[in-house]
Amino acid sequence: MAETRLLVASRNAKKLRELRRVLDTAGISGIELVGLNEVPEFPEAPETGATFEENALAKARDGAAATGLPCVADDSGLEVDALNGMPGVLSARWSGVHGQDDANTALLLAQLGDVPDERRGAGFVSACALAIPGGTESVVRGEWRGSVARSPLGENGFGYDPVFVPEGERRSAAELSPEEKDAASHRGRALGLLIPALRALSS
Ligand code: IMP
Repeated sequence: MAETRLLVASRNAKKLRELRRVLDTAGISGIELVGLNEVPEFPEAPETGATFEENALAKARDGAAATGLPCVADDSGLEVDALNGMPGVLSARWSGVHGQDDANTALLLAQLGDVPDERRGAGFVSACALAIPGGTESVVRGEWRGSVARSPLGENGFGYDPVFVPEGERRSAAELSPEEKDAASHRGRALGLLIPALRALSS
């Protein structure tokens, strides 16, 4: 039987591998994952939504419309309790420049300098959307609660991982192995919630 091609609205090989692991673990075969680098280029709208869900849906819709393929997209970030949920959808550009992980993390630590341990709660959030051309749209949310450490620790992961200590852990997210992070993370949980829709797509 021919495989269903599924566009993953990302150029990040790690995200494609993560989704592959989720599909394999769920026993879903018959889906070929295709990254943005493997389809003809199309204009990618900036992420201007007020919520993770809006951004993920917009990316999935654009990808499906441009390629005619079912498309899965995610948007994620860190919500810090003491900052009323910020940086939230602005996580990637918190220090003013998109994708500068070290500067974003340093600014966050400075902002929380006087915040005591018991008020350093935070949660990573991931919204994952699936858009099927001429068909349905779905969007789900996964969360991973923890707290913001006082200084960065660990070499794995990316973004705010070195300053995020998951609930029930003493290590930062950057000190977990990729498999440990997958099993607990916001994105792992959101992708898990998409499994029924992906299973329907493969059959
Ligand atoms: P995007 O959804 O890939 O655009 O990620 C948004 C931003 O949120 C990233 O640049 C990171 O700063 C932060 N972020 C999202 N997920 C994670 C994670 O798993 N670990 C650390 N930072 C994350």
